[in-house]
Amino acid sequence: MKNIYDFSQTDLENYFLSIGDKKFRAVQILEWLYRKKVTSFDEMTNLSLKAIQALKENFVIEPLKLKTKWVSSDGTVKYLFELNDGNLIETVLMRHNYGNSVCVTSEVGCNMGCSFCASGELGCVRRLTLSEMVLQVLYVDNELNKESERVSNIVVMGIGEPFDNYETLLKFLSVVNYPKGLEIGARHITVSTSGIVPKIYEFAKFPLQINLAISLHAATNELRNKLMKINKAYPIEELMKAIDYYLKETNRRVTFEYILIEGINDSYEDAMNLVKLVRGVNCYVNLIPYNEVATNPYKSTKHEDAEKFFSILSKNKINATLRMKHGDDVSAACGQLRAQTMKKEEK
Ligand code: SAH
Ligand code: SF4
Repeated sequence: MKNIYDFSQTDLENYFLSIGDKKFRAVQILEWLYRKKVTSFDEMTNLSLKAIQALKENFVIEPLKLKTKWVSSDGTVKYLFELNDGNLIETVLMRHNYGNSVCVTSEVGCNMGCSFCASGELGCVRRLTLSEMVLQVLYVDNELNKESERVSNIVVMGIGEPFDNYETLLKFLSVVNYPKGLEIGARHITVSTSGIVPKIYEFAKFPLQINLAISLHAATNELRNKLMKINKAYPIEELMKAIDYYLKETNRRVTFEYILIEGINDSYEDAMNLVKLVRGVNCYVNLIPYNEVATNPYKSTKHEDAEKFFSILSKNKINATLRMKHGDDVSAACGQLRAQTMKKEEK
């Protein structure tokens, strides 16, 4: 039996056509699953009995299984889910004044091996399926609905490299954006990549107005090579060329993510290198305090030094924000919770 949440609109249309039914059943199903949020096929009352029977024989409606949940003092909630094959993934809800943002995981682990990141440590076990991605959002949305709230923003910045799970990512974006379903506006969705250059060119052609964030973290190849292995495959010049193409093609802005690591990428010179690199590019720079991870020696830049770094960018007319930490007391950084839990279970 297949989980119905693994089927995108096109997949469902193809299924219904294959059983001699109508294509529009697909949109009916999406509305039942993501707007009315039914938990059984019998509740889909505008479907024919024959269609309901076919669905029951071939599909199940199966939610994600929660393993643990942590609530931080600032309202951030971290969910650890156990997948059917026993793998663990995490999802984070962040509450902002502009709405509720969910940080979604795209893979079990990550193959990119960035030296500062807990997700890279264990490699990539497998890519997530469509259901495993959309159900993270649905789970959190269901919880928020109990408080008469909803998920308003999505960031695909959890564990994994979304562009390494590209086809599923595109289906995910279409499903969460579907207007009669969760209806999360494309402009409220951000996908973050470590910089898989060929996929940036492809993503420029994707019709939805999704925001793109690039994990830059260093403005020279010498430094970026040390922090992010991917830079050896796609160095900064190639990355910037792809971004330039993306900007021209989409008329949008990109966000550069820059985590501040003490003594590594936070000097005056580092800030000036960043200024030179992004000057004239239609972008925001998001400065993020590094979340310390037990398995590497990196430390977070002290707040006053982060402020200095920020002011160098501002003085040079670079659009930048210095982000505050979210949910530090529940290990909200990328992959930390999963890594911790897996280590505890190994013992
Ligand atoms: N793989 C994608 C998306 C997931 S990582 C990417 O790298 O963009 C999401 C963001 O969290 C990235 O910008 C990543 O560099 C950052 N990150 C990873 N570990 C971190 C840590 N310990 N503290 C702060 N940010 C971290
Ligand atoms: Fe993977 Fe992103 Fe972590 Fe790098 S920062 S290892 S790309 S999840």
